[in-house]
Amino acid sequence: MPDFTGLTVERAQRVCAAALHEAGFDTSDLDARLLLQGALACDATAVARDPDRVLSQDESMRLADYVTQRLAHKPVSRIFGQREFYGRDFMINERVLDPRADSETLIEVALANLPAKSTARILDLGTGSGCLLLTLLAERENTEGVAADVSPHALLVSQDNAARLGVDGRVRFIESDWFNNITGSFEVIISNPPYLTPGEMEFLDRNVADYDPHLALYGGADGLTPYRLICSRAGGYLVSQGRLIFEIGALQARAVSAMMEAAGFSQVHVQKDLAGRDRVVSGIWQGEGKPVLSGGGKK
Ligand code: GLN
Repeated sequence: MPDFTGLTVERAQRVCAAALHEAGFDTSDLDARLLLQGALACDATAVARDPDRVLSQDESMRLADYVTQRLAHKPVSRIFGQREFYGRDFMINERVLDPRADSETLIEVALANLPAKSTARILDLGTGSGCLLLTLLAERENTEGVAADVSPHALLVSQDNAARLGVDGRVRFIESDWFNNITGSFEVIISNPPYLTPGEMEFLDRNVADYDPHLALYGGADGLTPYRLICSRAGGYLVSQGRLIFEIGALQARAVSAMMEAAGFSQVHVQKDLAGRDRVVSGIWQGEGKPVLSGGGKK
């Protein structure tokens, strides 16, 4: 285990970065900065203000512990149990997928279709940390939502996050295998289901393979099992003209679009992420829909 006893802040950061660099981490400088901030329980400005201060015993032990975890390829977000997503902090643990920046694309697509005063009811299938649904609820204060997950452990995490963001009064949490325990109808259904194929599961980065729950990653023999199921049932839970928005794997746009069209969705649209990969597919339900019982938000 690296030893940071008696080192100054500046030196500790350099030693930490060097250890990570030597172990082949290409984000060694950034990681070192973040781990040091965590060990000192302060932000970048505070670290920069006093570079010659000698670390306390506690601080150097904490830093050594963090570096050891990082050297085992644990993502920085998992070391701290926290990840920023769309400008907000989300608590995470080993039971939920670490929110990805790619998933912010889904937020952009959803928000583009939710006017500021929208009263839409939003269902999130496989909510995990809750980052998708809770971000939308936070961005649109008159919306409400249902967070569904097959994992009760994940639901505890999303409940915690809802309370922290102050949106807990507008969301219900339901333990459900996709739609099985869901009732009611929604203007919007969102999902970032597990979508990796067996082949992709074999070649995951260690930071994913060792730390993300495989339940949240593996999408069945062709990676499309959850999409098939959700497409076939979503119409029963959407109002007429309601919207289904999926995150997809970069190679799944064609298959998922075709599936949605065959299931009765129109205006099926693929959105790319910031890296230019296909990332989100959305479409509008053209079926009958369920009657809207309470004051609307239907668009
Ligand atoms: N985007 C994730 C990854 O490639 C997969 C998440 C998912 O299956 N929904 O690691």
